[in-house]
Amino acid sequence: MSKPVVAVVGRPNVGKSTLVNRLSVNRDAIVHESRGVTRDRSYHDCDWNGREFVLIDTGGIESLKSKDVFAPRIREQALAACDEADVIVFVVDGTVGVTDEDEEVARVVRKSKKPVFLVVNKIDNPETMLDDWNYYSLGVGEPRALSAGHGHGTGDLLDDVVAAFPDVVEEEPLDDDALNIAIIGRPNVGKSSLTNRLAKKNRSIVSDVAGTTRDAVDIMISWKGQKFRLVDTAGMRKKTQVHEDVEYYSLVRGLGAMDRADVCLLVVDASIGVTEQDQKLAGMAIDRGCGIVIVLNKWDLIDTDEKRDAVVNSLDARMTFATWAPSVNVSALTGRATDKVLAAAVHAAQNHANHIKTSQLNQLVTQIRESGHTITQKNRRLKVHYATQTGDKPPVFTFWCNAPDLIDDNYERFLENRLRATFSLEGTPIRLKFRRKD
Ligand code: GDP
Ligand code: GDP
Repeated sequence: MSKPVVAVVGRPNVGKSTLVNRLSVNRDAIVHESRGVTRDRSYHDCDWNGREFVLIDTGGIESLKSKDVFAPRIREQALAACDEADVIVFVVDGTVGVTDEDEEVARVVRKSKKPVFLVVNKIDNPETMLDDWNYYSLGVGEPRALSAGHGHGTGDLLDDVVAAFPDVVEEEPLDDDALNIAIIGRPNVGKSSLTNRLAKKNRSIVSDVAGTTRDAVDIMISWKGQKFRLVDTAGMRKKTQVHEDVEYYSLVRGLGAMDRADVCLLVVDASIGVTEQDQKLAGMAIDRGCGIVIVLNKWDLIDTDEKRDAVVNSLDARMTFATWAPSVNVSALTGRATDKVLAAAVHAAQNHANHIKTSQLNQLVTQIRESGHTITQKNRRLKVHYATQTGDKPPVFTFWCNAPDLIDDNYERFLENRLRATFSLEGTPIRLKFRRKD
């Protein structure tokens, strides 16, 4: 299920970023940052009493902090954020009072008709009485005093924000034998075209099942007896009004879709090559434990050796951290090789759910031990005793060894490479854990 989205809006310098940092689970855990001409923002994973949600910070915008900020820019930011959010936190500066710019933001917030919490920030002394009427005049409900800097007032705010989330609708029982596939990628790479192509070719069982999640469009298809639930993150974006901001939508949507997916089809525009944004999306999919198939779409445009080399080079250069992800060259336009996408997805999903026997893992551990490849430090020497798979989707392998602290990135990579060379793990991330046993 996709997580509720909370947008923190307000004019510059009222303390939005400070508040977001205070509320997010891990202060450094910016899930994603996007910088653009009209929008810079970051997404943060949050959790309050077990309820998870995403906070959007529109505050970290240096350019907006300069003196000559245009009201239209502020308005634009607020508009897009409100459009996307389930709940809005509107921040004003209690040391300054209400300004024209606050009123501008208030107009946008009121129009959204979404639950709004008005935060009067920088009230560092909890005894301070608010000049309530001043803030009531913004027309967005009761003001609440808070100090993002010191933290007081934030717990109550979170209680109320979480209570305002849309009811959790029980998802329809998922077809257990269907593979969940998220189609992710930058705007215009061909996600919708690919989805349509796959749906048309492969008897769409149910199309446009409006997901219980607010905006997901799931498409069920069947191919060679295997069912797939395709979540096209582009289809969701196209339902929204704000067209200028496609990059942003594809990201927020992508996050929710990835949470549910076994495998992500990362669609890349082959005529452009693998970009930094594609790289980020792949990183996000890995963090969420999804298998990945890289779909190099628009292959019909790759008609010279130079172009082919350019794509291959960009793939090699930018996907060094996911060399295990297979890639397929397709054209959603002509239909070229689109079946290969499904074949690769099935293969990745099988590996994602792979369970490797302890006895097989220990054969590998023995081989590694006999090869003498280990780490020594002063008079200590790493000894791996045994290993077992302790999780799946994606596979988690736990190694018991005498000195886990000796293990460094190099050794971990070495183990990962050996695992991948020995077992069928193509298309899935894997996790390694180390436990001490003398
Ligand atoms: P944004 O532009 O709305 O994201 O604002 P920032 O979070 O960057 O904060 C602007 C300034 O206000 C910074 O110097 C913060 O340290 C300060 N600030 C934020 N919250 C508080 C607060 O609760 N009390 C005080 N005294 N200062 C704060
Ligand atoms: P999305 O934003 O990722 O869903 O991308 P769309 O599916 O809307 O496609 C964006 C544009 O790329 C459209 O003009 C498509 O016709 C075009 N397109 C999609 N797939 C291909 C392809 O395989 N080859 C070519 N040449 N164009 C494509």
